[in-house]
Amino acid sequence: MADTVIPCPPAVSLAVQGSAARFPVRRVYCVGRNYAEHSREMGGTGRELPFFFSKPADAILNVAPGVEGVLPYPPQTQDLHHEVELVVALGAGGRDLTVDQAAQAVWGYAVGLDMTRRDLQAQAKKAGRPWDTAKGFDHSAPIGPLYPVADAGVPTAGAIQLAVNGQVRQTGDLSDMIWSVPEAIAYLSTLFELHPGDLLFTGTPAGVGAVQAGDRLVGTIAGLDALQIRIA
Ligand code: MN
Repeated sequence: MADTVIPCPPAVSLAVQGSAARFPVRRVYCVGRNYAEHSREMGGTGRELPFFFSKPADAILNVAPGVEGVLPYPPQTQDLHHEVELVVALGAGGRDLTVDQAAQAVWGYAVGLDMTRRDLQAQAKKAGRPWDTAKGFDHSAPIGPLYPVADAGVPTAGAIQLAVNGQVRQTGDLSDMIWSVPEAIAYLSTLFELHPGDLLFTGTPAGVGAVQAGDRLVGTIAGLDALQIRIA
């Protein structure tokens, strides 16, 4: 590699279940309001077109199975919210993908948390400002290990839940998504040229709420190892 004038930032990657090799991350896209009940709890009708925002790749906090990740309570908020989500990772890209092509582009999936400074998001919405400070802060994207789609493909049904200190807060089913994973990717590919290494957070079911320092979060999707986080 050519000399650099400052040290290169570390490459971001995810652990892969059953493999020593890692998945390199390019971009982190997120879809908003993809479960009707959550859409309604956030003031939507539950039927709008998908919309997207991004987190920086280095906001990822990759947590190994059986390990409790530590998320420092972020500054400038009194209302840090959890959003448990299915995260899909792309092994192929392109633009204007068909739904079939989008389905074929998925390399793997994982449990993730779209952590949100809800008070900053509410201020941004009110002022018509961007969501970056609400959504893209450091460590705002805890993600468990990636499961290759291999033979089974991306799960399209199954329970998705988040518990805080042992109490279930969010509960839903992957089949409740308004836009399926391939539909969301296909739509996203009309807005951006997608590339291998891109991730998509696919939206959260109802029941989002605040966490405090010391809380223990466990995100689960049927068939996957739990994602465990402690708020420090
Ligand atoms: Mn979300």
